This record gives sequence, C-alpha cells and structure tokens, in this order.
Amino acid sequence: MLRENLPAIADLADLELVAAVAEKAVGVKQLLRDVARDYAPVVFANSLGAEDMVLTDMIWGEGAEIGIFSLDTGRLPAETYELMARAESHYGRRLEVFAPRHEAVQSFVAGFGINGFYDSVEARKTCCHARKVEPLQRALAGKQAWITGLRAAQSQTREKLKTVSFDNVNNMVKISPLADWSEREIWVYLRANHVPYNALHDRNYPSIGCAPCTRAIQPGEDVRAGRWWWESADTKECGLHRRPDGTLVRASAKANVGEAEVKAPSGAGRSQIEEAKECGLHLVDGRLQRIAKQGVEA
Ligand code: SF4
Repeated sequence: MLRENLPAIADLADLELVAAVAEKAVGVKQLLRDVARDYAPVVFANSLGAEDMVLTDMIWGEGAEIGIFSLDTGRLPAETYELMARAESHYGRRLEVFAPRHEAVQSFVAGFGINGFYDSVEARKTCCHARKVEPLQRALAGKQAWITGLRAAQSQTREKLKTVSFDNVNNMVKISPLADWSEREIWVYLRANHVPYNALHDRNYPSIGCAPCTRAIQPGEDVRAGRWWWESADTKECGLHRRPDGTLVRASAKANVGEAEVKAPSGAGRSQIEEAKECGLHLVDGRLQRIAKQGVEA
C-alpha cells in the first residue's frame, strides 16, 4: 500500500471524517468490552505504533479489563522508550514489559555478531525469534485471546485480515479491532484525542520496529518499506504473526490459512448474528460467543 501524503492524513477540519471516526471508535470500544467480558484473561500486544496507541487510549481510557504489554527487544529506538514513559505518565498506568531471555540474546550475539541480522535472513530470523517471538509466547501464555493493532490496509497480504479470528498457532482468539480502519482514520483519532505517539512518525517512519532494522521511507514507498529494507519483500517478517502452517503472514499474497472470521460490530457496536464458517465463533448482538464447532469449545 502506498502511503498517503502526510499533510492530508489527519485533517481535523474535516468534521464529517472526525465524526465518522468517533462513531467507529464507539464500535471498537464496545468490541473491546465484549472481548474483556467473554474472553478473560485477554491481553493487548502493544507495539507502540500509531494503531496501537489508538487501542491503548481506548483500553486505558475506558478502563477495560484488558492487560497491555510491550516487548522490549533491547534494540528499540530511543523515541520508543521515550513514548513508553510518556504514555505511562499520560494515563497514569504502568506498561507490562517483556524482555528477551538473556541466554538467547547472548547465543545470537556469540553466533552471528552484535549486528549479525544484516548478514543473512537466517540470522535476522534468529534474532527476531530470541527478541520477539519467544517473549511474545511467554506474554500470551495462559490467555484466552489477544488483541493486535493490525490493519487490512497495511499491506496487500493483510487485505483479508479479519477483525476476529482463531489463531491456531497460539491456540487462542485473535482480535484486530482496527482491521477496517484507514491510516487517515488512525491519525484523526490520535490527534482529535490528544493521544501520545512516537516522535519518529513525524519523521516519516510509518512503521517502527527495532532501531537497526527500521528506517524512514520516501514519498510513494510502501508503508513497510522501512522495515528490514535490505531484504526482499517475501522474507520481511518478525514471526509475530504467522499462519497456522507456520508460513509468515506477509510471505505471500495468499489468503490466511486457518484463521476464521467473525465480523466486528457494525455502527455503534451493535451487530446481527454473523456466522463464523471455520472456528465456530459468533458475534451476537454485539457480543462475542463461542459454540462447539471444529475444535473450539463452547
Ligand atoms: S527487528 Fe532487527 S534487532 Fe529487532 S529482533 Fe528483529 S532482527 Fe533483531
């Protein structure tokens, strides 16, 4: 997806758009309350990107019973740590932070070198596994559902992203409440609600990961062109979002395998019955419900 012009992203003078975003936000907040009630314990994996700050604002602002955690890879940009501190101060809450196991990081550095991730895809994936994937698995342990800030419009391979799906890899429900939001809507929400965000976004970093693996993009470049830019597009993935067969979410344009859809509430959080065709999840009158079907227990 090509990035829209920066100045046009959050035009608060467009009152119709501001109102539409506010209405969508009502629906997302209702979904979050439903998830917190029906899938406890549920956690939000906060990568501290623009989308995730929208969800942070909704969860902490609403007092939803949803835990928020972030992964501190040890290689994050200074601006991201600064945002963590600013967000904690803004909301008066403490982020739960998961760090990598030191043995895994030491093993990577001993084997590949301190910046060995530049040398091969294998080395980069080893680093991502030690610093991201394993800590994520620890953070998700014992949870029934997890929430992500993924959007369908972020890349071609996310076009089929569902708001609610069953994540067979982590064996739990996966909620992407902003799946149908545009980048412009994200920024309208952030600015209209004075939500803290990463200073790097103002320097043309639409997608922010670890410092050595993220750069600014040029006008017209794909929003994820600044991530692992030295690799070909089909290897760019940290392993946090995998299909059940182990392939990477962004590895090809094929449809997600094994992730079943339950549509999000329409309008202000109300919804008709939507049938989940694969995992047996249902959304009834805005409430998530599960039925015994294809391995998902009621
Ligand atoms: S993004 Fe880069 S530094 Fe961060 S875990 Fe992956 S390879 Fe390592």
